Amino acid sequence: MPKPRRSRAVRPPARAAALPRHGGLAVPWITGWFDGRPYFGVNFPLRRIQAITHRLCQFCRQPLGRRIGLVVRPADSAVGYVDEPGMHPECLDYAVAVCPMLNGAMDRYRPGPPSAVAGLLASTPARAGKHAEAYEAWYITPSGYEIAYGPDGTVLGISLDVPVLMKKPVRAAARPRLPEEDAALLRAVLDLESTDRHE
Ligand SMILES: [Zn+2]
Repeated sequence: MPKPRRSRAVRPPARAAALPRHGGLAVPWITGWFDGRPYFGVNFPLRRIQAITHRLCQFCRQPLGRRIGLVVRPADSAVGYVDEPGMHPECLDYAVAVCPMLNGAMDRYRPGPPSAVAGLLASTPARAGKHAEAYEAWYITPSGYEIAYGPDGTVLGISLDVPVLMKKPVRAAARPRLPEEDAALLRAVLDLESTDRHE
């Protein structure tokens, strides 16, 4: 497995300059905040819908351009849509560079936010604590951008049953690790997300 890149050395794209920072990282627009801290990987439900319906980048909130990047897991292609909004290619590159789940540094989904947070934000309880799946970056064009709706009209996500310009592997599915590797990674992730606050 390739070594994860050092996150602090990676600069966010210029279009994301206005995003708030946390622990040296640009916090995606879609990321949920609770009690003054962001929960990476936990999305504001309303912003997810806004981004999908208005064709905004989930990372920087600006309108998507001629190339739209989607982060796709096998489970997403199986259902035919991805529930996360699109990104500018450069925003996707940054997310992959710094996100321990996307770049393969983390093998399991976080156990999930505290229940108080989960009550306010959309969480992904089905993934929490499980081994990470494989991720790919798919690139589509504005003409291939289609919203997938449920039978009751709810926005499910962005359709994957469209022409795709390119598919690029982002990370492999996680394999079991030795316990000491897990401990080292946990320390690295906690350091990455460290705050002055300790509950
Ligand atoms: Zn963007």
